[in-house]
Amino acid sequence: MNLQSPITSGNRALKMYSGRLANLNIFTYEDFLFHLPSRYQDFSIFSKISEVQEGETVTIKGQVLQVKNQYLRGNRIKTIQKALITDGTGKIELLWFNQPYLTKTLKEGSTVSLSGRVERTRNGFSINSPEYEVLFGEGATAIHTARLVPIYPETKGVSSKWLRRQIYNILSEFGDKIIDPLPDELQKRHGFMGLKKALEQVHFPTTIAEAQKARERLGFDELFLIQLAANKRRMEWNETKKTNPIYIEKYKKNIDSFTRSLPFTLTDSQNKAIDEIFSDISKVKPMNRLLQGDVGSGKTVVAAIAMYASYLNGFQSVLMAPTEILASQHFKTIENLLTPLGVRVKIVTGSKKLTDAFDILVGTHAVLSEKIVFDNLSLVVIDEQQRFGVAQRGIIRGKGASPHLLTMTATPIPRTVALTMYGDLDLSYLRELPQDRKRVKTWLVPPEKRLPAYEWIRKQINETKSQAFIICPFIEESESMQTVKAAKVEYEKLKQEIFPDLRLDILHGKLKGKEKEEVLTRFRHGDFDILVATPVVEVGIDIPNSTIIMIEASERFGLAQLHQLRGRVGRGEKQSFCLLFTDTEKGQNSQRLKGMETLHSGAELAELDLKLRGPGDMYGTNQHGIPKLKAATFADTILIQRAKHEADRIFPQIIRFPELLKKINTLSIQKVSPD
Ligand code: ADP
Ligand code: MG
Repeated sequence: MNLQSPITSGNRALKMYSGRLANLNIFTYEDFLFHLPSRYQDFSIFSKISEVQEGETVTIKGQVLQVKNQYLRGNRIKTIQKALITDGTGKIELLWFNQPYLTKTLKEGSTVSLSGRVERTRNGFSINSPEYEVLFGEGATAIHTARLVPIYPETKGVSSKWLRRQIYNILSEFGDKIIDPLPDELQKRHGFMGLKKALEQVHFPTTIAEAQKARERLGFDELFLIQLAANKRRMEWNETKKTNPIYIEKYKKNIDSFTRSLPFTLTDSQNKAIDEIFSDISKVKPMNRLLQGDVGSGKTVVAAIAMYASYLNGFQSVLMAPTEILASQHFKTIENLLTPLGVRVKIVTGSKKLTDAFDILVGTHAVLSEKIVFDNLSLVVIDEQQRFGVAQRGIIRGKGASPHLLTMTATPIPRTVALTMYGDLDLSYLRELPQDRKRVKTWLVPPEKRLPAYEWIRKQINETKSQAFIICPFIEESESMQTVKAAKVEYEKLKQEIFPDLRLDILHGKLKGKEKEEVLTRFRHGDFDILVATPVVEVGIDIPNSTIIMIEASERFGLAQLHQLRGRVGRGEKQSFCLLFTDTEKGQNSQRLKGMETLHSGAELAELDLKLRGPGDMYGTNQHGIPKLKAATFADTILIQRAKHEADRIFPQIIRFPELLKKINTLSIQKVSPD
């Protein structure tokens, strides 16, 4: 048995707990060691019983004089356990509730350590519900009392106390087998503690300062390994076969006349991104670039220009999108732009089969089908790349000879996160929205303004002939029947009671691709006024005449989601509005929701999110499937820089450090697509 052994190979208790422990991502003994405390309870102050003070949190050590159960007739409290302890300087009473087994654990005469808050009683002092542990033999170590006691993230049926015991045992048993993968020289330069000591100190610290030092060391490891893995992926990418360069200079005239023919001028960011892409694809080394830009920043046209360049070079390209709605929208855009220039643009989705030859193929996952064959695929574009898994990306790239890859996302993530997690990609940002786009006026609507808000929506629709989205509450991560049911109820209510004079329809994830498409087409044609939708249908709907989006229970959404939903409006000429409904007090005082009123770019909101929620739930990381860091935080830019610096320095000689190599080979940071 070693640290990497699965816990199911362990004792009965562990086997029994393995299901619950999976909720905490604990599968091996080692995983226990990296299940880090969320905080510490300070039980480090000892007191003699004769010196205890009312209100102090102290640890006392002594012998059990007496312990007994008292039965009550109460509903909540059925039994009380009373113990009397002495340490030679005095006696103190201890009380617990509903823990009858304590009379078996705390036997008379045993030595115990107890921590808790001292209360005054009629005839002395007592401690209610103290933490306790029996000390067997001289020099026995207390782990639940008498120290800085680690408190862990728990799950149903797994308490901190239980975890603490396991972790303590594993550290004692396997401590000497912990291999420190960091080169000595590096550790010395950064003044890091060794891995074994860091693990001991993070769980059972001697002081808070030591705990912090331990966490810094572990955080460094985490970031360092992620970045080494990124370096490795970059190296592997660079070692892949050479690909067809897509020449630009040669076709400059065509490309320029195409961009001039667009009904708008490109933004500076778009021009910059296009230059970066052109520079990449004109090389034999395949491009691997992530294009980030808020909803509405104009990523599609950037992709279209690159695909046009590929066409001019006599090559095929493909654009893959996660939903049927998005795919057909892209198809329409690209078809409009490029068919006049002689480009054959085709679409393939679950419901639309491919029949003809093409230069550019747009589609959903359907493009992955074995039946879809390319002659000379040279450029792959993936929209909302985080919605696809590594395997799917691999399949589509496999349809060409190492084609250039452009991935896109409408959920920008903070720079530090991108640098850490996507260190192997080159990044382009569309920082601004096109000039003529008006800011979406955003209001937080309290419950008492609900009816006036409905009235305002009605007036707005009637007077400006615009349309509205109403987004139902976010209930679960993936769209369940429950969400759909809630949406249907809401839809009926709105239709019958609130807006009987307007035309409404509903869109949810359980509709078939074709049905969704039909609803959207009718909405686009103005066949009805209000689209009631569930939250998951958010991405990429482009309906310029809809100027109002009303979001129910907005406090349940993350900022990144709200921002993306808001991006559904403000796409046309007219002033647009976003109404954030919230019925909870928390929602009304939420800095997050208030931020939506004043901040309008994903980048700014990401900063706010970082400030408010702390680093655990960083903006956009959920949408990108980026796992939470355990020891480090994305907010710690300095540690990220240090780790990056060292990763770049060590990587070329990684072969000298087999332990590091082993670690990065098992490190898989890309989550497989949820759909
Ligand atoms: P996203 O980045 O969200 O995918 P789109 O590519 O769908 O954005 O673009 C949104 C809308 O903006 C489209 O209607 C597109 O034609 C338009 N658009 C793109 N670039 C510009 C620009 N530079 N100026 C004005 N409108 C633009
Ligand atoms: Mg888009």
